[in-house]
Amino acid sequence: MIPAQFDYVAPATLEEALNALSEHGDDAKIIAGGQSLLPVLRMRLNAPEIVIDLGKIESLRGVRDDGDAIVIGAMTPHAVVATDPLVEEHALLLHEAVQHLADAQIRHRGTFGGALAHADPAGDMGAPALALGAQFVIAGLGGTHTVEADEFFVDLFETAIGEDEILTEIRIPKHTGWGAHYEKFVRVAHQWPIVAVAAAVRAEGGTIAEARVALTNMGSTPLRARGVEEALAGQPATDDAVRAAAERATEGTNPPSDLNGDADYRRHLAGVLTRRAVLAAAGA
Ligand SMILES: Cc1cc2nc3c(=O)[nH]c(=O)nc-3n(C[C@H](O)[C@H](O)[C@H](O)COP(=O)(O)OP(=O)(O)OC[C@H]3O[C@@H](n4cnc5c(N)ncnc54)[C@H](O)[C@@H]3O)c2cc1C
Repeated sequence: MIPAQFDYVAPATLEEALNALSEHGDDAKIIAGGQSLLPVLRMRLNAPEIVIDLGKIESLRGVRDDGDAIVIGAMTPHAVVATDPLVEEHALLLHEAVQHLADAQIRHRGTFGGALAHADPAGDMGAPALALGAQFVIAGLGGTHTVEADEFFVDLFETAIGEDEILTEIRIPKHTGWGAHYEKFVRVAHQWPIVAVAAAVRAEGGTIAEARVALTNMGSTPLRARGVEEALAGQPATDDAVRAAAERATEGTNPPSDLNGDADYRRHLAGVLTRRAVLAAAGA
């Protein structure tokens, strides 16, 4: 289908974009890579009067080192995140996960910030961002504020970004030297996961000193598997120990039932995929 008619602006600065957003309120929609928004407009699930394109705002792109964190601009395409050496060195989990997101064309158009702002519970970027304790920098006309990952994902397709605000960058605390793995379960290639598990592990010798684990598509938002993390701390990186910890993967989850699988099937997957992801992250 063809979208309903809308006006289009492509401001050159963040301030101009925020002014346009504030002027048009509910009638405006931000567009980043358009990989989620355009299908929504084409299906006429949303019909904004004006679309504000962030594509010309250079300050929203790129990856930089900021001491104990790396900072990824919201408009940085997935393909750049996938190949950036800082991401690979300090946020290996993100580097691993983004390789599994859709196909090469979508990774070139779609952006890291757009995927997180869209907050699809089946999206592949939420769980790694949550597991790594990302911080979300959000700008409004009154200034910027930072939201912790635990507070950012509010509900299905809903985040802490206000209607007149723009996500500008995402700070990822460095996890240098941590092992990482993203285990994604799909029926066909280049699809959203039925369930996926993001795991980062700091191993000392053969022991798991610390683990950070998060789940994709096991509720209305990405979820931290804190029970698994607790159970793993101080355990040997063996199949038995990790299998026992993975039994706690479903704690606090509320998986959907749909044509790809019912909630029980997803609970089963969460345990299996958690074991695989943690063992791979621990190098076992
Ligand atoms: C065929 C297909 C397969 C896909 N497969 C996968 C997959 O396997 N895994 C996966 O995770 N994703 C998948 N996607 C989605 C893809 O990752 C998108 O890139 C992503 O969801 C949205 O990023 P975008 O930059 O295109 O955002 P857009 O589509 O431009 O925007 C998405 C939403 O976020 C808002 N928004 C965007 N940027 C900002 C900002 N900076 N501040 C505030 N609000 C903002 C927009 O207003 C809009 O509501 C797929 C998409 C398609 C079309």
